[in-house]
Amino acid sequence: MKKQTLFILFLSLSFFSFAQKQKPSQPKLVVGIVVDQMRYDYLYKYWEKYGDGGFRKLLNKGFNCKNTTLDYIPAVTAAGHAAIYTGAPPGVNGIISNDWYVRKAGRRGNCVLDTSETPAFFSPCNMLTTTITDELRLSDNLKSRVIGIALKERAAILPAGHLANGCYWLDQKTNKWVSGKYYMKEVPKWVNDFNAQQYVSKYLSKPWTTLLPIEQYTESIADDNEFEGLQPGETKPVFPHNLPAISKGDTAAALRLTPFANTLTKDFAKEAIVQEKLGMGGVCDFITISFSSTDLIGHLYAPQSVEVEDTYLRLDKDLENLINFLEKNIGKNNFLLFLTADHGAALNPSYMTSKNIPAGYVHSAVIKDSLQNFLVNVYGKGDWVADVYTDQVYLNHEQIETKRLNIYNIQRQVADYMTRLTGVQTAFTTYMLTNSSYESGAGHLAQRGYNPQRSGDVIIIQEPGWLENAKKTGTNHGGVYSYDQHVPLLWYGWNIKNGSSVEDVSVTDIAPTIAAMLNISFPNGCTGKPIPALFK
Ligand code: ZN
Ligand code: ZN
Repeated sequence: MKKQTLFILFLSLSFFSFAQKQKPSQPKLVVGIVVDQMRYDYLYKYWEKYGDGGFRKLLNKGFNCKNTTLDYIPAVTAAGHAAIYTGAPPGVNGIISNDWYVRKAGRRGNCVLDTSETPAFFSPCNMLTTTITDELRLSDNLKSRVIGIALKERAAILPAGHLANGCYWLDQKTNKWVSGKYYMKEVPKWVNDFNAQQYVSKYLSKPWTTLLPIEQYTESIADDNEFEGLQPGETKPVFPHNLPAISKGDTAAALRLTPFANTLTKDFAKEAIVQEKLGMGGVCDFITISFSSTDLIGHLYAPQSVEVEDTYLRLDKDLENLINFLEKNIGKNNFLLFLTADHGAALNPSYMTSKNIPAGYVHSAVIKDSLQNFLVNVYGKGDWVADVYTDQVYLNHEQIETKRLNIYNIQRQVADYMTRLTGVQTAFTTYMLTNSSYESGAGHLAQRGYNPQRSGDVIIIQEPGWLENAKKTGTNHGGVYSYDQHVPLLWYGWNIKNGSSVEDVSVTDIAPTIAAMLNISFPNGCTGKPIPALFK
């Protein structure tokens, strides 16, 4: 009896010391999914129409961080993708918007366009910090592999980081999945083979009809309404959308406005996993997938539309297909998946006012003209305003210096003037954002989004429900309120238990959470923290 006990003790001790020497394991594959413009409420709004294997599986078997916000402005695609993968807000990672006014160049520049050579080329050159995908590559001397995929270049490039093995987006001129010279001389054979299948033309050869009988779309308003935009050649914003007629000559652009572009993205991602043998090389690999059509469809039709509902029902099927594929090919508990969004979106302002809820539109061009007139009246002739874009005012610094005026005084006057405009709630100047510390509210969000080298002189904050939009139909996003800020964050798979939490989470907490799970370094500009609920 005694001998047996000792023997068992010896066995367990030797096992214990053996176990301690084992490096903590990592999943075979991390799958990062960003659904462009997905509002948090879409998880539950369409619940009864989702299947068991898509969103509902992630919620029923995974972990739901129910109170996840961006925690910075602007709430736009590039800033969202960069913040998620760098764990840093725009002020630190440098991706302050999709494009911004570049003072040296005297014009707007695209966040992922490198203009240091002619012709310019796509790269993550403007992202000032590492991503979680970079840190994975750096952690094992570049053995882990990273591939980024999305319709939009910025949504593929920023998540994939500076060290990606592959990065692909759908070129609208050629209808092909392409990469760029930053990543490779030419795309691998499997990409050419995939492109040769002509999926874009195939998807556009049939009309877009609703997945379910249209009378079942009771979560959305009537299909024919005045709040939705029109596709080229259409006279009403209604199903069926005649894709062969809409798409003539301009195919990939037309496909982007359908849920089938998400299906194509998913199928291309699956092909990348198979062909590149991701998750099958004995190290932890990482694939970033961004579904961009949800954003383009959302802009045209807005969240209350049948089109948006149908897009999410079809995305749910794509997710089910992708999860089943991962479970079969990588193994049920061998991959770590997270799903989030880069921003939400407002309901259509005209729809809101039709229900007596305050809302409206502001227009940058109108603001620019009226501000220019105001400054001419105060300071005399001259081009005082360089640009007004995505809620930022860029003043003409040369003009102000030539006239030997105090820039801070003018910024203050401009901010005061802004708050007199309809639909503007408040405005922050550079001086305010660099000389005070805002713990919460719009000031906190503006401060986290503020980068001294790249941001404007004055940041405009709209009133709730008001948005920057040239048209009265569809929607937009970018601001400080919950409809733009509150996004889903679901975790599923490797080491993820079932549950939910209402703790405050910022999207900048996603990258350090993955770093803590994988036992690798946080991205180098990271300000986020691992989410405690996932480690309990
Ligand atoms: Zn977006
Ligand atoms: Zn958008």
